[in-house]
Order: sequence, then structure tokens, then C-alpha cells
Amino acid sequence: MADLALRLPDNVPGDFFVDSTCIDCDACRQIAPETFSEDGDYSVVYHQPQSQEETRRALMALVACPTASIGTREHHDAHVGIDAFPLPIADNVYFCGFTAESSFGAWSYLIVRPSDEGGNVLIDSPRFATQLVKRIEAMGGVRTMFLTHRDDIADHARFAEKFRCERIMHADDGAARFGVERILHGSGAVEIDRDLIAIPVPGHTRGHTVLLYQKKFLFSGDHLAWSPKRNTLIAFRSACWYSWPEQIKSMERLLDYDFEWVLPGHGRIHHDSRDEMHRHLEHCVDWMKTR
Ligand code: SF4
Repeated sequence: MADLALRLPDNVPGDFFVDSTCIDCDACRQIAPETFSEDGDYSVVYHQPQSQEETRRALMALVACPTASIGTREHHDAHVGIDAFPLPIADNVYFCGFTAESSFGAWSYLIVRPSDEGGNVLIDSPRFATQLVKRIEAMGGVRTMFLTHRDDIADHARFAEKFRCERIMHADDGAARFGVERILHGSGAVEIDRDLIAIPVPGHTRGHTVLLYQKKFLFSGDHLAWSPKRNTLIAFRSACWYSWPEQIKSMERLLDYDFEWVLPGHGRIHHDSRDEMHRHLEHCVDWMKTR
């Protein structure tokens, strides 16, 4: 729980506040943009929740925060925030909330499918929080855990132990060292099952891989995200740990695939038509070549 003694001075007066342990991961601003805003290297409360729905969203942000940096002066039923996760995004795809500090608040996702269609897939690792684990268990558990890259694996080992799921990760990001059960090699795309394609996209890290589901949802890790400021798709030049030229080539190869959703670890989610998404991706490649 956040510490009132560490309350940032730029929070507006009132119930909700952010303290100085905030790592500026952006999760609260995405979940409750009517309450939280950016303020230098932190988030702050710029508008206290007024309605029941605004309070619910602020409590969801409190639960999702990786560093427990959001607090309240008044008592609230924590389950209002807790029970919102996993949060439906579209079709059978959910956002897990409960981000982990070790992944710098990266977002993880759950695909819910019947057993005979391949079972549930957890993409990257949320925090291993009892409340979330119980909810995922009630939704059918986890058959497969897909790890896009080494930065966002958080509590993968605990999820693997709990659900006895098969983890999938690329060899070039240390999959063997992490004890991953199914290790991907090389630069070619791999059909995991009839609806899932793993696409290696070296750049951000050497072994970064994205996951395409039903040619509709692209789980893009830290390779690709939406920028509301630029109003298009972007990559993170300042957070490219392996090779920017390789990341540009990987981005060009993604042009061969159709998708409507970009679901990143960091950065914003975006939904658009396949044609518009393709156009944004072309812009992204052109822009990357100027960086
Ligand atoms: S979710 Fe927590 S760590 Fe992330 S920006 Fe908000 S207050 Fe800071």
C-alpha cells in the first residue's frame, strides 16, 4: 500500500494519491486516464474520481500498479479493483492487470480457449498474486505460457509450477537458462497451433518474438506499440537493447502479416482495421529509418 508520508505534492487534494515510489510505468494512466496523468518522472492524481465508475477504474489502477504506489485516504472495498481482472479486451482476450515491478509494469494477457482448441494461453507474466491466480484457475488455468522476451517474464516460474503449463520462448533470449520447456530457434515463424503463430522479431532483444493469434491479435511485447502522441505505431529507439537495424528489418517482415490489434507489454494498445494497421506499420518502418 502506498505511503501517505511519501505522497507526491502535485497530487490534487482528496482521497486518491500517488507516492514517490512510482516508477512511471504508465499503467494507471491507461486504466484510469480520467484520474491519473503524467507529471515529470511520475504519475499523479490530477482529478479525484467523482462517479462510481471513475472510482472503480482508479481502484483497478491501484491493483494493477507494480509498485503499490497508489493509495487512498478513505476505505474502499479492494475487490472492486481486484475482481475486475482479468479484464476483457475483445473476443476471448483479456488483460491480466496485476503488473510486476520486475517487468517494469509490463502488461500481460490471457487468451481463453476450450481445451480442444488448444487451451488457455498466458502471454508474458503478471505478478503471481493469489487473487489473480484464483481467477485464472476459475477461467480454465493456463495450458501454454508464451514469453515474448527476457524483460517481461516476471513470475513465469511460479505460474509454470502452479498450472504445469508449457512455456515457449526463443533460445536467443536465454530460454534454456530460464528452464523453458519449448525453445524456439532461428528466424522463421513457427505455427504453435492452428490459431497461433510465433514470429521472431530480433531488435529490442536478440530473441524477441511476437505472437499472432487468429490473424487478428498481435501480442507485440516491447517490439511495437501505439503512440497516442504520434497517433501511429512506434518502436522504442531508446529502449533497443540489441540492434536497431535488426529491429527495422523485423518490422518490415511484420508487414507480411495481417492483424487488427496491437497488444504490447509497454506502450498503448491499438485497434484498427487490417488495412489501417498495415498503413500505420508502413509509417512506423519509414519513421524508424530516420532514427
Ligand atoms: S501504475 Fe503505479 S508505478 Fe505505474 S505510473 Fe501509475 S503509480 Fe506509477
